[in-house]
Amino acid sequence: MPELPVINEAKCDHCGLCVSVCVCGALQLKDNKISIVKVNDCGWCTMCELVCPTGAISCPFEIIIEDDKK
Ligand code: SF4
Ligand code: SF4
Repeated sequence: MPELPVINEAKCDHCGLCVSVCVCGALQLKDNKISIVKVNDCGWCTMCELVCPTGAISCPFEIIIEDDKK
């Protein structure tokens, strides 16, 4: 399974911002709980981590873009 964003539920205030910026539709807010519902749809954009006002999401991966023209 690929690396995915990690959600710290204790820090989450259920604002829903992360869901609204996730263009891949990978996140869901249901019954006051954020979860990754489509694990294979996460595009590792890290937007959820960037917009979360409480620091409840961390993206423990690094995007490396390789230039294959070298
Ligand atoms: S990293 Fe991007 S695609 Fe993945 S869950 Fe966060 S906002 Fe959605
Ligand atoms: S943006 Fe952060 S605080 Fe808001 S619902 Fe998502 S994880 Fe929770």
